[in-house]
Amino acid sequence: MTSPDTPGIAALRPRLPSPVQEVVDDRFERRGVRLLLKRDDLIHPELIGNKWRKLAPNLAAAAGRAVVTFGGAWSNHLRATAAAGRLLGIPTIGVVRGDELAGRPLNPSLARCAADGMRLHFVDRATYRGKSEPRTLAGILRAADAEEAYVVPEGGSNAEAVRGCRALGAELRGRAEAVAVACGTGGTLAGLAAGLAPGERALGVPVLKGGFLAAETDALQRAAFGGRRGTWSLDERFHCGGYARVPAELDAFAADFEHRHGLPVERLYVAKLLYGLVTLVGESAFPRGTAVAAVITGRPFPETSARLLL
Ligand SMILES: *Cc1c(COP(=O)(O)O)cnc(C)c1O
Repeated sequence: MTSPDTPGIAALRPRLPSPVQEVVDDRFERRGVRLLLKRDDLIHPELIGNKWRKLAPNLAAAAGRAVVTFGGAWSNHLRATAAAGRLLGIPTIGVVRGDELAGRPLNPSLARCAADGMRLHFVDRATYRGKSEPRTLAGILRAADAEEAYVVPEGGSNAEAVRGCRALGAELRGRAEAVAVACGTGGTLAGLAAGLAPGERALGVPVLKGGFLAAETDALQRAAFGGRRGTWSLDERFHCGGYARVPAELDAFAADFEHRHGLPVERLYVAKLLYGLVTLVGESAFPRGTAVAAVITGRPFPETSARLLL
C-alpha cells in the first residue's frame, strides 16, 4: 500500500541501504572522533537522497494519480518529483513560489522540471504562503487544474514521508553515537531520529533562518508517530544567512572538503551540515572515541553553485 517496496517505484532499483563510508579528516582525528558519511546521495541517480526516502511512500500512496507539489525556483524536491514522474509515467504538477517568474525564461532547475514533463504553475508569494490554509490551497489547486491530483506538501514532508525516513535511522543503528543531517522542513530529521537505536542521537542543522524548526519537527513526529520519538536536537548556528545563501567562506569550505575527500558537496544543505560538524568537533562537542555520521542528503545540481554565490 504505502510501502516504499511497492512495485512501480521499486522498479527504479534504489541502492538501499545506502553505503556508509568512513573518511579520515584531521580535524576529527585530532579530537579522537571518527567521521562516517552516509551516502544517501547514491540511492538513485535522479531521485537523490532523502528525496527518494520521502517520495517513495507518497508515490505509492498516489497509486498512479497525478501528483501536485510545491517549491521555490531552485527546489531539489520539485526536481526529484518531476524526475519520478518521468521515470514512472506519472503526471506531475509543480506549484512554484513567485508569479514574477511566469513568462520569463525558466532557470536551469525549473527547465529540468519542465523537460521531465512537470507542468509548472506560478503563484504569487502571498498566496503561496497561505497554502496550508485549506481554502487557499483549494483555490491554488483549482487554478492549477490539479483538484484530482495527490497532494504532496512543500519539501515533501508529510506523515508518509517521515515514516519513510525511519529507514535511514534503522540503517545506521550501531554505527555511530550521533547522526547529523541538514534540515529544510525537518521531515528527514523527524524520521531519522525515530529509526535510531536507544542511546543514539540525531542532530539537525537547519539551513533556514528563523528558529521555527523544533516546533515543526515536533509536529511532524506527532503526525507520523503520535508523539515524540528518539533523541534529537537542533543547532541553529549554521544557516549562513538563510536559505540558498552561500557566502564565499562556505563555498571555500565546501571546495576544500571536496578536495580532501573527493565528495561532491551540495552547497545549500550538505555544505552547511559539514561546516557545522567541523565547527562542533572543534568545540569538543563529541566525546573522544565516538563516531559521528553525516548524512549526505544530496548532490550538487551543476547550475546552482555559480548562480547562488551571494
Ligand atoms: C530537501 C533537502 C534536505 C532537507 O530535508 P527536510 O526533510 O526538508 O529537512 C536536506 N538536504 C538536501 C540535499 C535536500 O535536497
